Amino acid sequence: MKYQSTRGEAPVLEFSDVLLAGLAVDGGLYVPTEFPTLKPSDLRSFSEMSYAEVATKVLTPFVSPSINSNELGTMIEQSYSTFRHPDVVPVKQLPAEIGEDRYLAELYWGPTFSFKDVALQLLGRLFEYELSRRDTGVTIVGATSGDTGSAAIEACKDRDGIELIMLHPRGRVSDVQRRQMTTITSPNIHNVAVDGTFDDCQDLVKAMFSDLQFRERHKLAAVNSINWARVAAQTVYYFTTATRIAGPNEQISFCVPTGNFGNIQAGYIASRMGLPIDRLIIASNHNDILTRTHVSGVMEIQDVEPSTSPAMDIQVSSNFERLLFELSGKDGLWVAAAMADFRSTGSMKLPESVMKHLREWFDAGQASEREVEQEISDLYETQKEFLDPHTAVGVNVIRRMKSLNGPVAVMATAHPAKFNTVVEAATGMAPPQPDEIVALKSRSERYVNLPNEVSAVMDFVATASSQ
Ligand SMILES: *Cc1c(COP(=O)(O)O)cnc(C)c1O
Repeated sequence: MKYQSTRGEAPVLEFSDVLLAGLAVDGGLYVPTEFPTLKPSDLRSFSEMSYAEVATKVLTPFVSPSINSNELGTMIEQSYSTFRHPDVVPVKQLPAEIGEDRYLAELYWGPTFSFKDVALQLLGRLFEYELSRRDTGVTIVGATSGDTGSAAIEACKDRDGIELIMLHPRGRVSDVQRRQMTTITSPNIHNVAVDGTFDDCQDLVKAMFSDLQFRERHKLAAVNSINWARVAAQTVYYFTTATRIAGPNEQISFCVPTGNFGNIQAGYIASRMGLPIDRLIIASNHNDILTRTHVSGVMEIQDVEPSTSPAMDIQVSSNFERLLFELSGKDGLWVAAAMADFRSTGSMKLPESVMKHLREWFDAGQASEREVEQEISDLYETQKEFLDPHTAVGVNVIRRMKSLNGPVAVMATAHPAKFNTVVEAATGMAPPQPDEIVALKSRSERYVNLPNEVSAVMDFVATASSQ
C-alpha cells in the first residue's frame, strides 16, 4: 500500500511515514493510491466477528508493509479493551416516529466519551510502536474544538517519545471537555487556550507545519483528522454497524454529525472498499458551509457562530480536501490550485463533474439550535433516552429527510453527559454522570493562555518540544 498527497507534489510514502508526517510537504493530505476491496464473503463473516477482529481485517491492508497483521492485531486488542461496552460500538434502534428502520451507532464508549477515542486509542499505540522502532521522538501539535484534545491526551499521556501540545479555543469548549484535557498532569502533555476560534487554532497548527524548517527541527507530528491513520481507523465501525443492522447485500445509509469531515470521509472510504452504502448524509448545525455547498455548488466561508454542538462549529472542513481529490478523478494539481484560491478568496465554485459525483454519494441537511433542543427534548419525552447535541443534529436531520429508503444509522458521536448543561436545559433532567466525569471537578487544572499569533505559539512549542 502506497500513499500520495491530494496536491500531487509530495513524495509517495508508505504507511509508517504517512503516520508520522501528518500533512504532506506540499500542504496536501495523504490518501491511498488505491483502495483495498473486501469480498462479499469477508463482509458476511464480519457479523460473526468481534470489533477488534473486524478492525484487524479491515486495517491490515492500510498498514502493510510497514506493520504486519499480528502486531496490528495486538495494538487493536489493547486499544478497544479500554472501551466500556463489550461491543465497542453498540447499535440501538430509534423510535418508529423518527422513521422505520432507524438506528443509533454509539461511538462514545471510549475513555473520554466521544467518538474520537475510536481512532486515537489506536493512533497513540501506532505512534509509540513506530517511534520505538525508529528510536526517535516527535512533538505532536494539535488543534481541538473539544473532543480531539482530550482523546489525544488520553491516548498519548506518558507514552515514550511523545511531547503533545494541544490548542483549544478559549471559552469555546465545554467545562467537561476542558477539564478532561487540563487535569491530565503527565509531564509530556501541554495545554494551550488560544484567544480565537477553532478555525484559528487549526490555522496556527497548519502554519507551524508549513514552516518546513520549524517542522523538521521539532519533528512535528499531527493527530488531528488530517492524519490518515485516524480516517482509516474510523472506517471500521461503518463495517461493524452495517453488518449488524443489514444483510450482507442490503444497502444502508449513514447520517454523520459533521465538522472536519473525517468521520463521514471514513464512510465514503468504507463504501469504496465494497460496503454497500446507499446514502451518506452530512449533518450540520447552523455553521452549514457543507450543506450550502451541496445545494449551490459554491463553497463559501461565513463567520463561525458558536453553537451547542461545538465540535461542528467549523467553516473549513480539512478532510473535505480528501473527498475533492477523489471526486476530481485524483487531480492533485486542480486540488492545489482550488485550495489556494479558496484560501485567498474564501469561496470556491466546484466544477459540475465534481458536484455530480458529490450528489451521487452524499445528501446534506442542517438543524437549527431550536431544532436540536426540540430533538433532545422529544427523544427524552418518548423514550427516556438522552442525546448529546451533536447526535441530536443527526437525528433531527433524518427525522425531516423523507427521501431515505432502507435502514439508516445515525453516528452518535458523544455521550450526553459530556454536554450535560445543554441536555439538562432541553429536558429538565440532568443526564447521569459517569464517575470519571464527576471526578474531574475536584482535580486542579493546568494550561497556558496565548494570543492568536503564530510567533507566540511557535515559541511555546519550541520550549515544550524535547527536540
Ligand atoms: C469531532 C466531532 C464531530 C465532528 O467529526 P468530524 O470527523 O470532524 O466531521 C462531531 N461530533 C462530535 C461529538 C465530535 O467530537
